[in-house]
Amino acid sequence: MSDGSTLLGDVLSRMDEAAERLRIDRDMYKTLRSPRTSLTVTFPIRMDDGSIEIFTGYRVLYNYARGPSKGGVRYHPAVNLEEITALAAIMTLKCAVSGVPFGGAKGGVTCDPSRMSMNELERLTRRYTYMILPLLGPDKDIPAPDVNTNEQTMAWMMDTYSMLAGYTVPGVVTGKPFQLGGSRGRSYATGRGVAFITAETLKRLDMPLEGATAAIQGFGNVGSNTARFFHEEGIKVTGVTDLSGGIFNNSGLDIPALLEHVKRERRIAGFDGGEFISDYQRANERLIRSKVDVLVPAALENQITVNNAADVGADVIVEGANGPVTSGADEILARRGKVVVPDIVANSGGVIVSYFEWVQDVQAYLWTEEQVNQRLKEVITGSFSRVWDKSEDHSTDLRRASYMEAVEKIVDVTRLRGIFP
Ligand code: GLU
Repeated sequence: MSDGSTLLGDVLSRMDEAAERLRIDRDMYKTLRSPRTSLTVTFPIRMDDGSIEIFTGYRVLYNYARGPSKGGVRYHPAVNLEEITALAAIMTLKCAVSGVPFGGAKGGVTCDPSRMSMNELERLTRRYTYMILPLLGPDKDIPAPDVNTNEQTMAWMMDTYSMLAGYTVPGVVTGKPFQLGGSRGRSYATGRGVAFITAETLKRLDMPLEGATAAIQGFGNVGSNTARFFHEEGIKVTGVTDLSGGIFNNSGLDIPALLEHVKRERRIAGFDGGEFISDYQRANERLIRSKVDVLVPAALENQITVNNAADVGADVIVEGANGPVTSGADEILARRGKVVVPDIVANSGGVIVSYFEWVQDVQAYLWTEEQVNQRLKEVITGSFSRVWDKSEDHSTDLRRASYMEAVEKIVDVTRLRGIFP
């Protein structure tokens, strides 16, 4: 569904525009246009049938001027260096906007985890961790889950790092199981943050929350938890898609039942609480056209492009995924009066609670679930308010305002630190 623009191209031109508007010193800004460290690793894994396969993985530390670099690791057949670089840049901006004291990174392995066993995934994760080891550390670079990785993946990464260090180092990854130093509330934090941000946006737009309608693309960690919190807040979810198709019900899907079904079946296909469309493309077209208040793209990048932005039926688009709306689509949506809440604000709940997890690990002092959720709400709504106010002050959209906020903070720190040597 690409419209020819690339995620990295979009991110760079959005940063350029922000720097220009801010009249930032070109020399200082230059430091933000390229990644500090890009590592490509190629390694063999013994598969369950005894054969050996070669995999390629990446870890890009885009920028660490504001602190240790932070960002997820994804397993997906489409993973490549350019994509990981763009996602690492997005993490840098996301941490800056939220105010958490981290730089940005991203990692990934090109693979199809749906065709791999648990044992194969464990060997892949441990070998990948070993290959990127020189970059990792609780004060250096801290991975977390992303597309197709989860708490178990983080447990393996933490164990591999710790075995090689000779002692247990919980703070080297976040999004771990609670028993290993994970934080209460981390597993659903991104979805919870999306729900907080949606509520704040509707409030600012004078749209009622109770009875509002929503459609969600993707039903992984972000999509499913967003649905759960929308349901709890009284937002009616009328359509959901995943790789197995889409399910639609204008009176609102029974989200608790759908969550139970997906827990059992690992996909939405087979759920009978609405009209099911098994064709992935048709299901997504219908979802994007849905006349709802809020559309949450919570799958992959480049989903709303110049090819379908004119079809978007929602009034508000809240980016649960990273980079789901291209720059070309942004312009079309703006002309149509649609409000886009950008990824670096909308889905920052995950990395905000990752920061809390890291703080708890470093201090070896655990917080309660209530403390985590309360602090998440404070940090994410604070970030949203700053961006909203900036967009009004500069008469611009939320994406441009959020990039201005982030670029200004990173360049400020770069200037204070100076250029080495
Ligand atoms: N992968 C998540 C993101 O894209 C979380 C990253 C993290 O917690 O470090 O924001």
